Amino acid sequence: MNGLTMDETKSGRKYFTNEAGEVVQLECTSCGKIHDASSFSYQKNGFNDKRSHCKKCVREYVKAFNEKKEKEKADAKETILHKEVSKQFNAFADKVQIDKETLLALAVKELIEKYS
Ligand SMILES: [Zn+2]
Repeated sequence: MNGLTMDETKSGRKYFTNEAGEVVQLECTSCGKIHDASSFSYQKNGFNDKRSHCKKCVREYVKAFNEKKEKEKADAKETILHKEVSKQFNAFADKVQIDKETLLALAVKELIEKYS
């Protein structure tokens, strides 16, 4: 195959070298595809000074990681808001000395009337 030699690392990762012995293609340990060496970012102490995941996989990983973080942030925000509303609701119920079930029922009735 176009003068390239296939070999494997100790961990079984495939790579291809040219006649000069330079690694020109590597297997991505994430997607399993063979890419040109330029498709891997530099990593000190990495095999051939490259990351084991191709740039596309790293990009997807970062994107998924950021989306997860954003979701966690949104969930946390919602929890804080919910806690704050509950706190105010309880404080109000204590103030007017009405039992919370009745107050909640009244609030729900008002909301239903307002939006129906
Ligand atoms: Zn990949």
